[in-house]
Amino acid sequence: MRILIQLLLTVALSYVVAFAGEHVQQPVAITTRPRFDDRGQVTYLLLSDNSHSYELSWGMPPKIRFVPVTLDTNSIYTFTVTERSYKGIAIPELRRVQQEGQTIYDVEVCEIHKTKMEHKKVRILYGLILPGPDEPTGDAEQQLFPHRREHSLGGCVVSSDSPKTEMIYICTECKKAYARWKVENKKIK
Ligand SMILES: [Zn+2]
Repeated sequence: MRILIQLLLTVALSYVVAFAGEHVQQPVAITTRPRFDDRGQVTYLLLSDNSHSYELSWGMPPKIRFVPVTLDTNSIYTFTVTERSYKGIAIPELRRVQQEGQTIYDVEVCEIHKTKMEHKKVRILYGLILPGPDEPTGDAEQQLFPHRREHSLGGCVVSSDSPKTEMIYICTECKKAYARWKVENKKIK
C-alpha cells in the first residue's frame, strides 16, 4: 500500500507539472537517438542536439509508461517537443515522434483507435480514486480505452493553488469501447 501511494504521488506530481502550464512555446524538432536515464522511480527520456536539450519524464518501470511508444536507443527519430511554463519552470512535452518520415507517436491521436482526439478542458479530480467492483482495472483501461475519461486525475496532493482544470485529449472511440465493455461485463455476472 505504501508503494502504491508513493507511486500515485509521483504520478500525480508529474501530471500536475506536465499539464498545468500557463503558456506553450512554439514546437521544436530534434533529430537524434533517444537516451534514457533511470532516476529512482522515474525514467527520463533525454533529447539533445546542437541547440536544444530536453529531459522528459518517460515512465515508472516496470509497468507505467507515460508515452505509448517504444523507442530503440540505436535508431534515429525526429522528436517534436513543446515547452510549457509552469510557475517559472519550463516543462517539456513530447508532441510527436517520427521515424523515416512515418509518424509513430502523436499526442493528438489515440494509440488504440488511431483516431484524432478532441482537445478539451476538463476538471481535475484529487484524492485516491480506486476503481469500483464494476469498473475495469487500470490495465484494461490502458489496453482498451485509455482516452475515454472526461476528467483527469490529479492524485493525492492538493493545495489551495492546485489547478482545477486542464486540457486533455479525449477519444470518441474509447468512450464507445468503454460503453461496450460495461454492457459485456454485466452479461458475465
Ligand atoms: Zn481511443
